[in-house]
Amino acid sequence: MREVYFEKKGKILYLDNNATTAIAPEVIEAMQPYLWEHFGNPSSAYTISRCVRRAIEEARGQIAGLLGADADEIVFTSCGTESDNAALNSALEEYPERRHVITTAVEHPAVLNFARRLQGKGYRVTFLPVDPLGRLDPDQLKAAIDADTAVVSVMHANNETGVFFPIDEIGAFCRERGVLFHTDAVQSIGKVPVDLKKLPVDMLSLSGHKLHAPKGIGVLYLRKGVSFNPYVIGGHQEDGHRAGTENVASIVGLGRACALAGAHIAEEQTAVAALRDRLEHGLLQRCHDTRVNGDCEHRLPNTTNISFGYIEGEAILMKLDAAGICASSGSACSSGSDGPSHVLQAMAVPVEYIRGSVRFSLSRYTTADEIDQALAIIPRIIADLRLLSPWTPERGIACWGKSAD
Ligand code: PLP
Repeated sequence: MREVYFEKKGKILYLDNNATTAIAPEVIEAMQPYLWEHFGNPSSAYTISRCVRRAIEEARGQIAGLLGADADEIVFTSCGTESDNAALNSALEEYPERRHVITTAVEHPAVLNFARRLQGKGYRVTFLPVDPLGRLDPDQLKAAIDADTAVVSVMHANNETGVFFPIDEIGAFCRERGVLFHTDAVQSIGKVPVDLKKLPVDMLSLSGHKLHAPKGIGVLYLRKGVSFNPYVIGGHQEDGHRAGTENVASIVGLGRACALAGAHIAEEQTAVAALRDRLEHGLLQRCHDTRVNGDCEHRLPNTTNISFGYIEGEAILMKLDAAGICASSGSACSSGSDGPSHVLQAMAVPVEYIRGSVRFSLSRYTTADEIDQALAIIPRIIADLRLLSPWTPERGIACWGKSAD
């Protein structure tokens, strides 16, 4: 990691890259001219705006290159959440007579809460379950789809566990049944190769800040031929697909981030997975009553979701923070909400483990030295918390969430 120092705290070990990533120095460098020198509105007709328009189109090409898409299939949005909302909204407007939506019980709130809102408006929504390893059974989707289904939205990789879903099989089935298929690929793009020439996906969401570009920039991929009903209405930007003056510097930054990711994806995937495994094995060896949540064979290379039994995740995170380690429990967008993660609940993680879960997520900037430092600190924190915890395998967890006795 590029060293991060925090006032009064010293060096930070940043292990929360699924929440957000540091902007790559190359990305900052590419953005700078568009924050100062090249400030023209890309829609204006004069010369100084032309180079701004060209920069946007170059970025569009770089993003398309990473995805195996064509440049005119890329629509810029403000974030992953907007892309998700816009995709679902478009499908429902396209088929107003269809009143059924299929998604999963473990989506990010950007899809989950949109789907819940649809329920409130009278739509029928199927939330597909996952098994205890966080895996989705495509046969359940096949059984749920019917003539009333307007859209299926299934994420590519889960943000909490990193577990992949079989979007190739799901997309192929949706195509066969004439149902639009959207995937939230916010966590996978830039971490693993994705080739939309081969994947039967109609719409895909990604977000800049998960791959070393800035916050506040996202993309909705729209396969050619899929008709789109805009969510943000106004001017003619983005070929009429998304109104609003473009976030030029961030678009340029996202283009550069995608080019960087594409150039190094294979080596980075291997190197990051090796560090993740070192952290995971080290913690499992050093801390008893500890387990990994999710299918370890099919998950993002940078993510591990570890439950430390009989203690509270929030207490662990506070102690980690005090020690300068950034990690999280669940999605950054739902942290602060009460109760265990909806993802771990859907996986039926045993009660003695569900509250003590911590997600560690690495990036290309994580170093072996940082992992070793984390391994020196975290087991001590866990041991200390266990000494204070009223819950043990012997005493049980019957009073979990209540007073200690
Ligand atoms: N989808 C997934 C899977 C995510 O992990 C996130 C962010 O954590 C989002 C959507 C939302 O992206 P953004 O923060 O750009 O709105």
